[in-house]
Amino acid sequence: MPAARRIGQDDLRNHNMSVVLSTVARSRTPMSRAALAKSIGLTKATMSLLTDILLKNGVLRELAPVSESSYGRPATPLAFESGRWAGIGMQINTDGVGYLALDISGGVVLSDWHERTMVNVNPATAFAELDDMMRPVERELAERGYRVAGSSLALPGLVTNGDRLLVARNFGWHDIDLNRYPVFSRLSATADNEATLAAIAQIPGYASQRADRDWPLGPLDSFVYVSTDIGIGGAYVREGQIVRGDHGFAGEIGHICVDLRGTLCRCGRHGCLETIAGRRALAVAAGLGDGDAAVRTELLPDLYAAWRGGDTKAALAVENALSALAAALASTVNMIDMENIVLGGLWSGFGDGLRADLERRVQAQILARDAARVRLMFPPVTEHPAMHGAAVMGLRRLFDNPMGFMSVD
Ligand SMILES: [Zn+2]
Repeated sequence: MPAARRIGQDDLRNHNMSVVLSTVARSRTPMSRAALAKSIGLTKATMSLLTDILLKNGVLRELAPVSESSYGRPATPLAFESGRWAGIGMQINTDGVGYLALDISGGVVLSDWHERTMVNVNPATAFAELDDMMRPVERELAERGYRVAGSSLALPGLVTNGDRLLVARNFGWHDIDLNRYPVFSRLSATADNEATLAAIAQIPGYASQRADRDWPLGPLDSFVYVSTDIGIGGAYVREGQIVRGDHGFAGEIGHICVDLRGTLCRCGRHGCLETIAGRRALAVAAGLGDGDAAVRTELLPDLYAAWRGGDTKAALAVENALSALAAALASTVNMIDMENIVLGGLWSGFGDGLRADLERRVQAQILARDAARVRLMFPPVTEHPAMHGAAVMGLRRLFDNPMGFMSVD
C-alpha cells in the first residue's frame, strides 16, 4: 500500500488558492474577502493572505468598495485583473486551423481562424501553418505584458497522455507524437479531443470568469455535449467535470451504430451516426457534392439554404439525420441518465424549430420518459468552441497549481 503523502503547509495553501480562484470564476458577481472566506470556509486571516498574493501577482484586483448593509464597513469586491494572465487555445480541425488567446477575466485577447478543408492533409503541413500563426501571437502577448498560464491543442481524434494522437481518421493521421512539432513543444502544450474541449468551453467559470449570459446550466451541472462537423464527437460533463472514461476516450457518440447495414464509416464499422448526420454525409445525401467535393466547408451555407428552401433532397437528408441523431441521443440518455444535451457544431445552425423537433424525438424514445424531461439546447459558445475550451484548459493550469505561478516575497 502506498504511504499517504503528508499534506504540508504549501500543499494546503496551493489547494486553498485553487478553491479561491474557482469561486471567483464561478460567481456571477464580484465577492469581497469576507464573502469568499465565508463561502469557502476559510478564516478571514487566511483569506487575506491568499488574496494579497493574488493581488500582488496581478491575478485579482480590487473594485470600488460597496456597502453590503446599512451598518458595518463597506466591503471591497475582488475581480480578475485583465491584461495580465492568458491561456492559449489552438485547433487543427477538418474545417480549418486557428487559435484563441483568452484573458482570465473572460475576454478574447487575440484570435484567428483560417477556414478551409483539411481532409487528408499532411500533419507536418498543418503544424507548420499553426506555427506560422502562433509566432507573432506569442510575441504580441509578451509585448502586452501577458503571462501565458498554459496552452492546449484541440484535435478531431483520440488523444492520449496529452501529447499523443492515436488516430484522427478524417485527417488520415495515425500515432503521432505531438512533441515532434516545434509549436507544440515550444508552448508546452497539451492536446485533447476537440469535443472534450468544446464541452469545457460550455462549463461556466471552469477556469476563467463566468460570462454574464442567460444560460440555464451552472458551473456544477451535468450535460452531454455533442460536437458535429464532418465527424461527430461528444463528451460527458458530470457536476462540472469531464468524465473521461478508463482511457480518456469516453463520449464517441458519432460512432454509435444506428444502422447495422449502413454505409461504411471511416472507423471501419457500418452505419455509425456520423455516416448519416456528419457534414460529408449530409452534403452527399442532399446532392450538393460527392467524394472530396462533399467536404468543402463552403457547402454548409448551401445546405442550410436548400433545407430552408424546401429542397426535397436536402429535406430528406436532414430528416434521416434527425432520426439517427434522436436514436443515438436517446440511447446515450438511457445509458448514462443525463437530461441536458448540448448540441454544438453544424447542427446548431439549423435553428430553434429543428432543436425543438429533435428534443421531442429524443424525449419520446427515452425509457424514463414519464419521469425525466430531456432538455436539448444549443451552446452559448458557438464560435470555434473547441479552441475556446482549449484556451480555458490553458488557464486551468493556473487554477490547478496557482502557487507554481506566484512569486512571493
Ligand atoms: Zn464509425
